[in-house]
Amino acid sequence: MNQSTDVIVIGAGIIGAACAEALAARGLQVTVIEQDAVGSGATAAGMGHLVAMDDNAAELALSSWSIRLWNEFVDEHPHSHEYSRCGTIWVASDAEELAAAQAKGSNMRAHGLPCELLDAQALYGREPALRPGLAGGLLVGGDGLVYPPKSARILLDRARSRGAQLVAGAVTAIEDRAVLLRDGSRLHADSIVLAAGARCTELLPGLPLQAKKGHLAITDRYPGFIRHQLVELGYIKSAHAASGDSVAFNLQPRPTGQILIGSSRQFSASLDAEPAMLSRMLRHAAGFVPQLAGLNVLRCWTGLRAASPDGLPLIGPWPARRGLWLATGHEGLGITTSLATAQLLAAQMTDGSVPIPLQAYLPQRFMPSPSNHV
Ligand SMILES: Cc1cc2nc3c(=O)[nH]c(=O)nc-3n(C[C@H](O)[C@H](O)[C@H](O)COP(=O)(O)OP(=O)(O)OC[C@H]3O[C@@H](n4cnc5c(N)ncnc54)[C@H](O)[C@@H]3O)c2cc1C
Repeated sequence: MNQSTDVIVIGAGIIGAACAEALAARGLQVTVIEQDAVGSGATAAGMGHLVAMDDNAAELALSSWSIRLWNEFVDEHPHSHEYSRCGTIWVASDAEELAAAQAKGSNMRAHGLPCELLDAQALYGREPALRPGLAGGLLVGGDGLVYPPKSARILLDRARSRGAQLVAGAVTAIEDRAVLLRDGSRLHADSIVLAAGARCTELLPGLPLQAKKGHLAITDRYPGFIRHQLVELGYIKSAHAASGDSVAFNLQPRPTGQILIGSSRQFSASLDAEPAMLSRMLRHAAGFVPQLAGLNVLRCWTGLRAASPDGLPLIGPWPARRGLWLATGHEGLGITTSLATAQLLAAQMTDGSVPIPLQAYLPQRFMPSPSNHV
């Protein structure tokens, strides 16, 4: 193993793996340090929904670009990613939500995303298991899903085929152009990329990130039970709640025939599964798809999303430390936005040319100094 390299990437979740791949593809010598398994952490806990989100222009720009990158990436080997282009149906409970779905559709179409507004009849034609009385929905056809830990492994394998090295170890400190490992060894690099997810704050305590815990449950195999990823339009409100616990209806047909049931949000750094939160989440989901109550749930788990104060990731240099770059804070959208994140970061670290405006994601927006104005 080289003791000095061009770039050290801390963390081999989906973000670190994607960054390593993008940097190695640009000819840099990359060393990835991972304390656990590749694609563990939040990546293994995530639903793997590749979803265009449009809460604000920056989120839509990043997610829609990333979905295009995913389409190219999975086209090479769709089965290895357990990929399905199932599309998302944003379910509208009433006329007001249907109007919101219509506005969402116009916004998405303006970004080249194929959308179809569904009235109630069209909704039940697509998804007969939904409870009666819903108003309709918006079908976003280009959305899909992957099995995130596998995709992370594929990205890292590609990075390694381009010369990147994977080091098993835990980083205990970030120094100027070096990192210290728990075994006492020190690795040097011109640049260090911190992609340690919710654990970034252990290495950089001033970072404005909070852990947001989520629960998920997966059922036995029920092929054809639902066909699209189903999400309630109210999801957006609960996903961005500044405080408190929330659940939202988010149902996914896995390519295995299993049904993945989500999701919950709590500001908490504990990974303990909480029966009260789980039953609240499952009851809420059964309120949209009543037959869910009769299915066998095989497994439940939790994961920690790294949430920034403005809901956008931190992608770029951290001005407080020479040579340190951040790729974190992706909250509930890190699987979707991993590939675009990696391209944005790698472009900033090399040739500087980026295809979307990057200001909204620059970490320096959280620096308490005049230098945060770009
Ligand atoms: C319940 C839930 C559902 C989700 N659903 C979706 C979804 O459907 N779609 C979507 O786009 N996103 C989803 N997400 C969000 C997504 O999973 C995350 O944004 C993404 O996985 C973050 O990836 P990461 O690489 O930044 O972090 P992680 O996956 O947590 O990876 C960080 C890695 O760094 C390693 N590490 C940490 N500290 C150190 C250290 N000191 N030394 C060495 N290694 C270290 C860890 O072991 C880990 O492997 C969901 C998240 C949760 C919790």
